[in-house]
Amino acid sequence: MVQILRLSGQPLPLVGRARLYVCGITPYDVTHLGHAATFVWADLAAAVLRAAGIDVVSCRNVTDVDDVLTAAAGARGRDVSEFALYQEYLFDKDMAALRVARPAHQPRARHFVTQVQQLATALQAAGRAYERDGHVYFRGAGVADRAGLTADQAMALSAEYGDEPEDPLRDHPFDVPVWRPSGQGEPAWPSPWGAGRPGWHAECAAMTMAVFGAGIDILAGGADLRYPHHAYQAAMAEAAAGVTPFARARLHVGEVRRDGAKMAKSTGNLTLVSDLLATHPSAAVRLFLLDRPWRQAWDYRPAELDAAGAKLDTLYAAAGRPGGTAGAEEVAAALMDDLDVPRALAAAIDGGGDAARLLLRVLALT
Ligand SMILES: [Zn+2]
Repeated sequence: MVQILRLSGQPLPLVGRARLYVCGITPYDVTHLGHAATFVWADLAAAVLRAAGIDVVSCRNVTDVDDVLTAAAGARGRDVSEFALYQEYLFDKDMAALRVARPAHQPRARHFVTQVQQLATALQAAGRAYERDGHVYFRGAGVADRAGLTADQAMALSAEYGDEPEDPLRDHPFDVPVWRPSGQGEPAWPSPWGAGRPGWHAECAAMTMAVFGAGIDILAGGADLRYPHHAYQAAMAEAAAGVTPFARARLHVGEVRRDGAKMAKSTGNLTLVSDLLATHPSAAVRLFLLDRPWRQAWDYRPAELDAAGAKLDTLYAAAGRPGGTAGAEEVAAALMDDLDVPRALAAAIDGGGDAARLLLRVLALT
């Protein structure tokens, strides 16, 4: 039976092929549960579509040109490239343990500096960017409004994510740098506007366009990337290419909290994937991340990880029972309906046999 994937209630009709861009890591620290949730969910979206006969081409970038990374390497007295590569190695190890398939494309920002310059030039040609003192600023006055935010909300988020809306150099507080000059100790490349480096949103816009062209089917990432990062990535790509929408659907995965607070490096309330994998089977950790609505923010509670392990055993037992194809159809239907894993699990455990085996396969729990 041919089915159409629904995400957030919206159908995403696909013919043959899907382009999935996952906003990847800035390799400056270890992987915590919040990162893992994002990448496991993006992996599941790809697996569900593949099971439905769609050829999914996935791309997950590495933001290895970033001020936070430069500062983290500097604080440790390490070379940025060497430090970033080691963090990537640790990340890849965690992803492999969580059974996240390796994306077809893994662009690194430092290899796409020329493409960022092409993007800046295209935006200038379209009248959507301007040069000032070695910067190229994207005109972003309408971006917050399109994201459904008030000016105050957008201002707060822009400041939180380092867009420096107070910078007096730009025409409008919501203009953001596509290109900016580098100071002492910062990575720099030659450009028509002087030695400098790309802006964060421009890096992802350029990498997406370089890999996939003007548009993609699904843009995935943590919920905190919705604004400003993904809003600007989309706005830049649309302004440069004249193709809308840049992303036909979005998969913004709910944040993981501990004691009600977002899990973040800055607050230190991290649960590391490697710690959980040291004490629990990887399939149990993966099921723990997936057995919930993907959009919803949630609190990490260790007892629920143990419960996920028990549920996994129940699912394995169900797979050993005889069972017909009706349950398998219900499992497939649940997954295509907003990646509803809890409903698929209930159907698989209830139906047993084919239904449970299908779910184990698509969820990569075998
Ligand atoms: Zn990104």
